Amino acid sequence: MQGIGNGKGDLWLMLDELRELYQEVILDHGKNPRNFRRPDKPKREAAGKNPLCGDQVVVYVDVDQNDCIVDVSFLGKGCAISIASASMMTEIVKGKSIAEAKALFDDFRKMCTTDDFDLNDENSDEEIERLQVLSGVRQFPVRVKCATLAWHALDAAVDGVDEISTE
Ligand code: ZN
Repeated sequence: MQGIGNGKGDLWLMLDELRELYQEVILDHGKNPRNFRRPDKPKREAAGKNPLCGDQVVVYVDVDQNDCIVDVSFLGKGCAISIASASMMTEIVKGKSIAEAKALFDDFRKMCTTDDFDLNDENSDEEIERLQVLSGVRQFPVRVKCATLAWHALDAAVDGVDEISTE
């Protein structure tokens, strides 16, 4: 990066690069979603629909006797944001307790809808920092539903609800 020039110019350059990086992460997960499979014997599952965009996902989750998410996967079709978000979610919540996953969903939802979401507050952690790549949806309220669809489905699956819709 060029280090000469006024500070403001450098800052904008940085923001542009950051945006590109975010886009790359979203495209990568959108094209090559992780944990994109249906388990042989799904324990719990829930379908999520986002009629506004046409996104559809089914989230499969296996929870052990200690309420720990031992496996999570999904299938679905939709826009890059909905698939990328589902893919990242499966990577992030695996190994977490249900309570931790729900807390992450809460933070993620806040990050997608609140302009001044502060990453430095006490409940900020590595996981929510990873999800920051999706926070750009904040500027496009319609896209918030794409980004949170898989999380809603996960929430429904662990609560024993079969199907959710963002409408
Ligand atoms: Zn979508």
